[in-house]
Parts: sequence; C-alpha cells; structure tokens
Amino acid sequence: LRTFLVGGNWKCNLSKDAITSLCKELAAAPDLETDKVEVVLAPPTPYLDHTRSVLRQDFEVAAQNIWVGGPGAYTGETAAEMIKDVGCTWVILGHSERRNLPQIRESDDFIAQKTKTALSHGLKVMFCIGETLEEREEGRTLDVCVRQLHALAETIGADDWKDVVIAYEPVWAIGTGKIATPDQVEEVHEKIRHYLAGDVNDKVAQETRILYGGSVSPGNCNELAQLPDVDGFLVGGASLKASFLEVIESFK
Ligand code: 13P
Repeated sequence: LRTFLVGGNWKCNLSKDAITSLCKELAAAPDLETDKVEVVLAPPTPYLDHTRSVLRQDFEVAAQNIWVGGPGAYTGETAAEMIKDVGCTWVILGHSERRNLPQIRESDDFIAQKTKTALSHGLKVMFCIGETLEEREEGRTLDVCVRQLHALAETIGADDWKDVVIAYEPVWAIGTGKIATPDQVEEVHEKIRHYLAGDVNDKVAQETRILYGGSVSPGNCNELAQLPDVDGFLVGGASLKASFLEVIESFK
C-alpha cells in the first residue's frame, strides 16, 4: 500500500567532486524495483543538474526549496519549472531549518502555498513538520504538527495528496544525535494518520506515507523501520556517507 521511501537531505553540504564520489558509492544499492523502495536525494540547488547526471537513474533527485510562483523577477529564487527542467522530480518543503532559522522564518501559509505550486507543476513534495523541544515539553507536539498540516489541507484540499509525503522531524532530534524513541515516533505517526482521516479523508490517511527524520543512522534505522506507521526516513548527516546504503536497506 505504501512503498518505503528513503530521502537523503544533503542540506548545505558537499561539493561537485564529493557528490560524484558519493553517487558512485551509492550505485552499489540493491535493485530498487525488486526491493520496492524509493530513494530520493536532495543536493544543494547549484548541484541539482550535476547530481542528476551522475546518480543512478532509478534514484530520484529533490530540490531543497522552490519559489512560490513562476519564473520572473525574483532574484535568488528557483522556479518549479527549472527544477523539472534539470530532471528533478521532488522538492523538500517546510523543513524545520527553513521554518525556524531566525533569518528565514517561513510561515505555515507560505510553505503550503509553495507546496501547491510544486504539485501543480508535477513535482512530488516531502512536506516536513515537527515540534521544537520547548513545544514537546509543553505537551504541544500534536497541536504543532496539526497546525502545520492543516495549513496544507486548507490550501490543497482533499484531492491532491498522492504526490505528498509527510516527514515528521522533531526539531530536537535533528542533527543532535538524540533520536526519538520508537514509542515516541509511532505515537506521533499514528496520530498524524488519525488527524488526516478526520481533516482530509480515510483514503489520504491510509495512503500517505509518513517518514521519520532526526538523527537516523545505520545504527538505529532497523528498529524504527519496523514500526507500522513509519513508511521511510528523511536522513540528514547520515546521507552524506556511503553507509547511507544501510539506511536504504533498513526496510527489509
Ligand atoms: P539529521 O539526520 O542530520 O538529524 O537531519 C535530519 C533532517 O533534518 C533531514 O531533513
């Protein structure tokens, strides 16, 4: 029903040469079709085209952001059309670094609008949500996730979810080595599905993949991959090394 998906978010890391080497190493991955797993890698914008050209064809490539509108007088931005033009099929939107870094501070609504733009151009979206440590400690984890998802549901309606994957990434687990426990992960994923059933519909709740992200590594991925509501991972630091292959294989 929900094909396992492993995303690698390279964030603002690597160089052209480093990407060439890493893609060579990742070519050792098993046959994705036989194994029924999707792999999506997200390089920094200047390397999208290069990554697409050196990566195995059955891996997909994602941008880490897009502009909310079409091409035009938007200095520094990248339009969905351009992402598609260089062979990329996905975009990561709503990442906590774009939501929470004080210099960026993207709003729920802006992220929802960009998601709509991406979907209307045939890009698939990894839509990231998640609470900060403070929000978790105040017992607001679900409120925050629901607020972020509701902005999307209001903007795209009920019909357009087939190209949306949700990535639950608790902010306190990102880049900290502090991973959420299997109980914490399953609890939130299950509640997200429950929310989707109520605010969108049952089909979307059952069919939408929910990835976990936050300090996923070869050492902890196998246990999390077994959880009933975990449909894959969005991996940061551990996707910069060849051992990312072990995370790709974790669904087995
Ligand atoms: P880390 O895997 O480095 O914690 O990052 C997770 C993440 O933000 C992926 O988008």
